[in-house]
Amino acid sequence: MQTTEAGTRQFDVVIVGGGPAGLSAALMLGRARRSVLVIDAGQPRNRAAAHMHGLLSRDGMSPLELLERGRLEASRYGVQFAEGVVTGIDRIDGGFRVHGPESISARRVVVATGLVDVLPDVPGVQQLWGTAAVVCPYCDGWEVRDQPLGVIATSPMSRNQAHLLRQWTSELTVFGAAEAGIPEVELAGLRARGIRLAPAALEVSGSLGELEVRTGDGTHRVSRVFVGARPRPSDALLTSLGCATLDTPAGPFVSTDPSGQTSVDGVWAIGNVADMKALVPISLGAGTHAATQINISLLEEEIAKVVV
Ligand SMILES: Cc1cc2nc3c(=O)[nH]c(=O)nc-3n(C[C@H](O)[C@H](O)[C@H](O)COP(=O)(O)OP(=O)(O)OC[C@H]3O[C@@H](n4cnc5c(N)ncnc54)[C@H](O)[C@@H]3O)c2cc1C
Repeated sequence: MQTTEAGTRQFDVVIVGGGPAGLSAALMLGRARRSVLVIDAGQPRNRAAAHMHGLLSRDGMSPLELLERGRLEASRYGVQFAEGVVTGIDRIDGGFRVHGPESISARRVVVATGLVDVLPDVPGVQQLWGTAAVVCPYCDGWEVRDQPLGVIATSPMSRNQAHLLRQWTSELTVFGAAEAGIPEVELAGLRARGIRLAPAALEVSGSLGELEVRTGDGTHRVSRVFVGARPRPSDALLTSLGCATLDTPAGPFVSTDPSGQTSVDGVWAIGNVADMKALVPISLGAGTHAATQINISLLEEEIAKVVV
């Protein structure tokens, strides 16, 4: 890290977002002896969950403990950290100016800002989010296998969540399937697999294992509800830099190459901000992949400066 005469700190890489994706990139770049600053607002997507599943060797660990360990590991290699929100990134000669808790310059930027789960406007869902109301059967299905479960449908894509969840229980009710726009032929497919259809949820109350879902036809008891949350990528920094996006069934996401490089030279986007299906292990891998490519791009720049 260097400091200009004007007092601006200069890093090889600034990483915006200190979740699994950002910290994983930081760890590898630190080990490659790059100067790295991670700026993080401290709101990881799974912060409300007590346990994290499906991560080999860390199954059941608290998501916040994983991040705490990650920060500790990365800091051993000189990675620096700042708390706060990055509000903008500008291109400057030789790299970028990152505006946040302070103004920083960087040769490369990694945006690992995740996504926001936009929840349906059903009273109770927000309060229960991460415990009794969740989104991912792979993450939270096993613990409630063979128990009565619910799906709160929000769009025709909820058909997929319902069919998937049927693998974990034979006692599954979908709330508001028709209201969410799932076509009749698909409703028949759900019924054919023994999935019950109920009117839209009006309110969810109780706690994990003892939930009550109130609908127009009464009250249904389930252990957990899986919610068709709409993923909204936190990609304003990327789109304002001009990064290209790709249309997906869930809306536009910034497009990248396999290493996370965006269409804007020097800008990487990794984890949920660019890939809504990036669970924790995938986000960790994305960070590692990006770090190695970023290091190579810095190296090539350094070679080009001395070789004529
Ligand atoms: C309820 C729930 C349970 C889950 N359980 C599991 C599970 O068991 N197993 C699993 O593999 N996955 C699980 N997931 C998915 C998991 O949360 C994501 O895979 C993971 O969080 C993606 O990591 P990320 O680094 O891309 O984003 P995040 O973890 O969301 O981290 C992004 C970080 O960037 C910060 N940030 C955003 N904008 C800015 C800004 N402008 N400036 C500075 N910082 C910013 C945020 O505050 C946040 O700290 C779960 C998700 C949910 C919602």
